[in-house]
Amino acid sequence: MLKVYNTLSRKKEQFKPINDKNVNFFVCGPTVYDYMHIGHAKTYIQFDVIVKYLRFKDYNVFYLQNITDIDDKIIKKAQNKEVDPLKLAHKYEKYYHEDEKSLKINAVSKHARATDYIPQIIDQVKRLIKKGYAYKISDGYYFDITKFKDYGKLSGRTALEAEDAVSRIDDSSEKRNIGDFCLWKFYIPGKSESNEPYWETDLGKGRPGWHIEDTAITETNFGPQYDIHGGARDLVFPHHEAEIAQIEAASGKKPLVRYWMHTGFLNVKGKKMGKSLNNFVTVREITKKYKAETIRFFYLTSHYRSPIDFNKKALVKAKNSLQRIDEFIQNIKTNPQKDDLKLIKRTKKKFFKSMDNDFDTPAALASIFTFIKKSYKNNLGGEKTIKFLKEINTIFNTFQFKTKKIPQKVKDLNQKREHYRKEKKWDKADQIRKKINKLGYRVEDTKEGPILKSK
Ligand SMILES: [Zn+2]
Repeated sequence: MLKVYNTLSRKKEQFKPINDKNVNFFVCGPTVYDYMHIGHAKTYIQFDVIVKYLRFKDYNVFYLQNITDIDDKIIKKAQNKEVDPLKLAHKYEKYYHEDEKSLKINAVSKHARATDYIPQIIDQVKRLIKKGYAYKISDGYYFDITKFKDYGKLSGRTALEAEDAVSRIDDSSEKRNIGDFCLWKFYIPGKSESNEPYWETDLGKGRPGWHIEDTAITETNFGPQYDIHGGARDLVFPHHEAEIAQIEAASGKKPLVRYWMHTGFLNVKGKKMGKSLNNFVTVREITKKYKAETIRFFYLTSHYRSPIDFNKKALVKAKNSLQRIDEFIQNIKTNPQKDDLKLIKRTKKKFFKSMDNDFDTPAALASIFTFIKKSYKNNLGGEKTIKFLKEINTIFNTFQFKTKKIPQKVKDLNQKREHYRKEKKWDKADQIRKKINKLGYRVEDTKEGPILKSK
């Protein structure tokens, strides 16, 4: 039985989709004004694995992600660079997809641009006005949080705090309440930024607020209620709280979402990695140093809800652990032994039990390491073992199954070494062993003769 931790109820609940085996899954996507950093990558990799696991369990998941391509940060950056904001956004959107690809993130069914949903946004705002939740002031339409009784039910609060992700668009001295947020911002010549994009609509010339973009996208694709909404922890308030208020007020149906899932932060020396602290590393930088598999593995060694500290030591540790698994696979491929079907079955059971427990990837990985340890100890592992690991890899996307080709040069050196060994010229044989090591390979002497392995 799959259990999912729900931020709304603050406990693990049995997973029951609204419509049988069909799952509508939405995750807050990027605001495209800069390269993806590895803090974002944590969220996107962890949801990539969660969705792949659900699919593995035969759920038919529609994974939707928004692209915020209209936003204050985009407008500001475009102004500094003297370029068109939408052009700038779509350039970074392209980079985002390139970075997803480089990290083997490919579970998303559909990416939806906010600017493709302007009519639906207008429709939602109009419904909120009609029902008395939205009001107009000189610079736009706002949501009155005091009108929505449930405001605060997700986060347990209604007031802003210092660490909240807020948008400049929500600022206005004329607002009824400090926490009210913008639904539609007017374009006012002389007051708005000169390069600000706007749309001519029934509500006046302007652009959408941040929170309404997501609810317009989800309502259009899923309707007023759906199964899972995911995102990073800092989006709980006010962003997700505002989403609930908007759609539940507009549709009169609740809950908007059955399960709210939030990922823990990626920290650097105890502080959240982010643009504002300027302590971020981009995906482009990190993939120059580490393989996508290593980065994915690094995130899977901690639970998605937990924070994880980013440092070189932890990444190297992940790299080494992953190498042990890859080496195990290579060993079986070059030198297959008997499979222990009972051990595979037991490991599978443990693995899925961990994943069913709110996607506990560290525990799932621990069962794999125990499996490898036992297999090594008893000299086990053949075709069925490989099949089992391949199955797991459809979820994790971290292991290597390609047999590495050993270069001819290394093979020649190995033969030479054997030759010296037969002549008992140990010194010379040892010199060649060192040469082989330098080329990234090592020799293991077995009863059947020497076996070459990559380091
Ligand atoms: Zn969002």
